[in-house]
Amino acid sequence: MRYISTRGQAPVRDFAGVLLAGLADDGGLYVPQSWPRFTPTDWRAMRGLPYATLAARVMQPFIGEAVPSDVLSGMCRDAYGGFGHPAVAPLIQLETGLFLQELFHGPTLSFKDMALQLAGRLFDYVLGARNERMTVVGATSGDTGSAAIEACLGRERVSVVFLHPRNRVSDVQRRQMTTVHAPNVGNIAIEGTFDDCQDLVKAMFADTAFRDDMRLSAMNSINWARIAAQVPYYVAAALALGAPDRDLAFSVPTGNFGNVLSAWVARRMGLPIARLIVASNRNDILTRFLASNDMSVAPVEASLSPSMDIQISSNFERLLFELLDRDPVATREMMRAFRTTGRMAVPDLAWRRARTLFHGFRLDDAETAAEIRRLYENNGYLADPHTAIGVAAARALPPAPAVAMVTEATAHPAKFPEATEQAVGWRPPLPPRMADLYDRTERFLVLPGELSAVEAGVRALTRRNA
Ligand SMILES: *Cc1c(COP(=O)(O)O)cnc(C)c1O
Repeated sequence: MRYISTRGQAPVRDFAGVLLAGLADDGGLYVPQSWPRFTPTDWRAMRGLPYATLAARVMQPFIGEAVPSDVLSGMCRDAYGGFGHPAVAPLIQLETGLFLQELFHGPTLSFKDMALQLAGRLFDYVLGARNERMTVVGATSGDTGSAAIEACLGRERVSVVFLHPRNRVSDVQRRQMTTVHAPNVGNIAIEGTFDDCQDLVKAMFADTAFRDDMRLSAMNSINWARIAAQVPYYVAAALALGAPDRDLAFSVPTGNFGNVLSAWVARRMGLPIARLIVASNRNDILTRFLASNDMSVAPVEASLSPSMDIQISSNFERLLFELLDRDPVATREMMRAFRTTGRMAVPDLAWRRARTLFHGFRLDDAETAAEIRRLYENNGYLADPHTAIGVAAARALPPAPAVAMVTEATAHPAKFPEATEQAVGWRPPLPPRMADLYDRTERFLVLPGELSAVEAGVRALTRRNA
């Protein structure tokens, strides 16, 4: 499989090249040169497969020769074998025609594990084949840091260092990062804000001598491997609910547009997906776009669902490229205008095309807490705030009666105990395998927000592994 950039000015690469590059050299995002498709007969033959086997089969066309299929199968077995549920991504029925798919049974309790557990292994394999190493650095205020750390844990060729703002992340989230002890894992608490942390990461990447010496890399959500690794759970849900012989719809709590884009990819591969709901909190740029073609950036506001506090959804560019009939010049121009003016003028035809499949929905914090309460009282299900927004969206925009509706449950409620306490009056316990999180020892450096100190810290934390 060959990959091209949405902006048309970067070299064509294979899967391994795209995995290591992340962003394309021209600032665009890599997409497959053509979309692989399965026939209805192929889909039916996948029914009932164990999740890991299904994942390997669905991902193989994207990976091509970069990873031999027996190696990929082994990686999928390893990646998903440690999940806390035998089905890996189980479906729960809430009501007739209304389902949840739980994506939070991985090591850090958010859906990020679904892709990152596999991505960490893919990085290790591809780096091994090239005899290279890399250091993942990132800043986190939430789910990504712990998921990336767990993804790198035990990998031979990857080190990882995450920056978090000191005393400004939740206890659960900090402990999920700082209680992981391994020679290739480091944490730094910065005396500053999340924005300071992000600026420091940018500055490390901009310091080319440091970047090249440390072989810095990011495992961020624009990496194609993450999008590809999220397609299999849509396939698993669809097959379990009768596809390819029955239509279905998905409601996806959305931030960077990565998760819902994977659903779109599953549709391109031939699954009968009739509707995709993009569920947002008060940061509702995508809702406004889908309702009235108003794609204009507003300031990011903090909400009960922090993983969706995003205005510029980086993966939207991949959909835009398709809506524009894969015209890289038009994509480049529109993205440039968006960056400079905070506004994107999507052509009417492209917008109408998006609306035939995608529907937007927003929910504010008070309504989110009310939905958590309603779900708990009426359905006996305790949802995290992101998932609750997805369920409210699914109820608000029901598809045709015969179409099953699946909401993606993106986090375990114990990850957001304050929100659930506010809604139902108690804090959900951590799952048994993590119950001792508060007893584990934490280990992290505390550093001022100065580039030289942080670079020295990153060197010290990764040297052990060199
Ligand atoms: C990251 C995240 C999201 C948003 O997913 P995107 O792929 O960025 O749209 C939603 N919910 C939770 C819990 C997350 O961690």
